[in-house]
Amino acid sequence: MNCALIVKPGQAPRVVSARDAVQRSEPNRFICTICGHDAFLRAGTVKEPHFAHCVGAPSNCALAANRTPAMKVAVTGDTWRFIETCSDEAPLPYIFFYVEVDGALVPLESGHPIEPRARYIYVARREHQPPFSANDLVQLDGCHLGYFAWRLDLGTRVPATFERWLAALGHPVTYFSKPSETQRLLYLVASACNRHPKLGTNGTSALSKSAWTLRVRSGASLGAELKHALQELSTNIYQNFTSLRNQPLRMPSVHARPDGHDLTLTFKP
Ligand SMILES: [Zn+2]
Repeated sequence: MNCALIVKPGQAPRVVSARDAVQRSEPNRFICTICGHDAFLRAGTVKEPHFAHCVGAPSNCALAANRTPAMKVAVTGDTWRFIETCSDEAPLPYIFFYVEVDGALVPLESGHPIEPRARYIYVARREHQPPFSANDLVQLDGCHLGYFAWRLDLGTRVPATFERWLAALGHPVTYFSKPSETQRLLYLVASACNRHPKLGTNGTSALSKSAWTLRVRSGASLGAELKHALQELSTNIYQNFTSLRNQPLRMPSVHARPDGHDLTLTFKP
């Protein structure tokens, strides 16, 4: 996928292209513009920059064709073949990072949040020196491709030495607390509001402190028209969101404040 939503704390999410995202050095959270699942930026040396779903995205999302390649592999055998086939997308030449999630290997990309279920990180490089020193770093058997590899048991968190080493290579590892399903839904609605010809020109929607409400500054005179537009837009997004994720439908409701200046969208829990 060429675009994704960029999500920053305290800011309305917005659409960003992969090319623009590459030029930003700071790590960010990205989510798919259709299903709201986590996405990450792929910016290798060969292919055009693009976004891909993280592991576990709904398989029926229209953008799922670009999902992260994940393979069930044996660590000491097929792992090397997998590394070789993925080498054109590696973030840095001859240094590869993979995360094992539920027995599948996925590339660890810059800015890609580490899955909470990830058990190990694999590092492969041409040099036989370990990339950093950590007590729980295990050297794997050598391989016929001339790589040396290490496995790091994540436990609950990557050691600070490894984090610093990756950051020195311009490849920072980032951690994000997972947004709730409702927050993902509100990200999609908030972004669509800001792109909407009427809702977007009447003020920027912002997520309230409560995860259940979205406020749109409407202006007194346009209240009824905007209320209808917000109801329609949020219903469409919500129906698509719940059908992709096989969730029961809970209809959103839109209320105008008595002074007519704010619309509040509520998804009932
Ligand atoms: Zn998606």
